[in-house]
Amino acid sequence: MKINPANLLKEHDLKHTKQRVRVLEEIAMDNAAISQPELEKRFGNEIDRVTLYRILNIYEEKGILHRVLDRNGTANYAICSPSCTAEVHHDEHVHFNCTICQKIYCLNIVVPSVKMPEGYLASTINSTAYGICKSCNK
Ligand SMILES: [Zn+2]
Ligand SMILES: [Zn+2]
Ligand SMILES: [Zn+2]
Repeated sequence: MKINPANLLKEHDLKHTKQRVRVLEEIAMDNAAISQPELEKRFGNEIDRVTLYRILNIYEEKGILHRVLDRNGTANYAICSPSCTAEVHHDEHVHFNCTICQKIYCLNIVVPSVKMPEGYLASTINSTAYGICKSCNK
């Protein structure tokens, strides 16, 4: 997804730091979500674990990144849709988990609305697909 990290920080009243920009650039570069361990590995000594953790949390709170859990319960991060705000995330799209490359893709397909039984109030509905992604299916 094409984003402008500096603008995003400004829009969300976040102080511009080199590390914050780097995290956004790295996540936006990929066409799939990136897991937290993978980010830790990529940044190595450039950004320590605690700082990375804080940056990811702020971004999730501000509606810049959304977290997707993979099958092992590991957090993966992807850039949010522009309609996400600090109050509400609007990432009700289908997440595709590839069982070959293990990547998680945000698909541009809206999760169909599901009618809850009386008395149940759903705040989030996730839709996850498992299978073989486009690049592995060649
Ligand atoms: Zn979001
Ligand atoms: Zn794949
Ligand atoms: Zn997503």
